[in-house]
Amino acid sequence: MSNSKQGKGSGTTLVNAGRKPEWTGAVVNPPVWRASTHLYPTVAALKDGVKGNSDGEFFYGRRGSPTQWALSDALTQLEPGAEGTVLYPSGVAAIAGALMAVLSPGDVLLVTDNVYEPSRSMATGLLKRFGVETRFVDPLDLAGFADKFCEQTKAVLLESPGSLTMEIQDIPALAAIAREKGAVSLIDNTWATPLGFPALEHGCDIAIMALTKHVGGHSDLMMGSASARGPLYRKLRQTAQALGHVVSPDDAALALRGLRTMGLRLERTMQTALQVAQWLSARPEVAHVLCPFLPGSTGHDLWSRDFTGGCGLFSFILKGRDEAARARLIDALELFGIGYSWGGFESLAIPVDPASIRTSSTWPPASWDAGDRHAIRLSIGLEDAADLIADLEQGFATMETI
Ligand SMILES: *Cc1c(COP(=O)(O)O)cnc(C)c1O
Repeated sequence: MSNSKQGKGSGTTLVNAGRKPEWTGAVVNPPVWRASTHLYPTVAALKDGVKGNSDGEFFYGRRGSPTQWALSDALTQLEPGAEGTVLYPSGVAAIAGALMAVLSPGDVLLVTDNVYEPSRSMATGLLKRFGVETRFVDPLDLAGFADKFCEQTKAVLLESPGSLTMEIQDIPALAAIAREKGAVSLIDNTWATPLGFPALEHGCDIAIMALTKHVGGHSDLMMGSASARGPLYRKLRQTAQALGHVVSPDDAALALRGLRTMGLRLERTMQTALQVAQWLSARPEVAHVLCPFLPGSTGHDLWSRDFTGGCGLFSFILKGRDEAARARLIDALELFGIGYSWGGFESLAIPVDPASIRTSSTWPPASWDAGDRHAIRLSIGLEDAADLIADLEQGFATMETI
């Protein structure tokens, strides 16, 4: 893989990014600078500090310290085309902060129907209260997308694949339409990260990640990021400063630690997920496997064209079983935790029911058999594939006993 700004491989960039000698001193990692107050040598220096407002400059704790700057810098280096990266206290805060940076009262926002549910609620709740109208669009209706724009459409929020139903969208085409219409395209790129899908290179303007997932990687941290080109990066930064967004240096250090091994974890969890997905697709209890990197799965062609990697997150649909059967299966699993989030070292399984949160696309797809609707989302961790498969096998056996 090679997608770093300096033309080095992404593994090399993951190791070296953000480790400026002036931030790390004589040690490998930047120390944790716990600080609200930065001290100035003189009154004149203090007054100069107020005037300056650039990255990597001491001022006051809310603008960060070398620990947070190192993380921002590392994420910027991983995202070709980005001028800078703003950190947020969660993934949701990153989505809210980025949308508020580009939208004003009277504007219209287009959102693909498969986005993360809290992004939908944010649009129809908070943003509506601030005078922004949201229209939901079918993520797979490329032909209809251009018609959804009006004079007031100022931004488009994309997510590919959707984190429950895994639709891969033609992002280069959608982003090109948005650009032609004068709208900013934002993408929630948590699933692929820039290692699997360098979003700005594919035409998006702002790439957002829940660092809580793959970057943290150990289920012990909440954080988000947004990376953008020059003028938009400055807007993101101003808005984040106005909203008082800041992340703790302890969490930034944890995120940096996670980042160093993210490439390895993504490769391994995707390989294991592929084995599990292949096994599931041959099971009589399974109607559909929604997994973009599984050959033959919906979206695999676009995934192969645009992505250089994936992760351990995918879903499958039970063949005609009811909700109770689904719960029996999940409850019987011993190696999969039952819980939200994903991207950690440990596997998770949850029931997902996207039908109730769709407004502009049909779920389940009309082409499926009527009874095939109960979905399970798996986040595959670093366990051995054979053990996860054996666990699912005994889970299916339990599912069938009443
Ligand atoms: C988890 C998640 C988020 C939100 O991240 P938090 O850190 O939990 O706020 C955003 N987008 C997607 C796709 C997610 O899975």
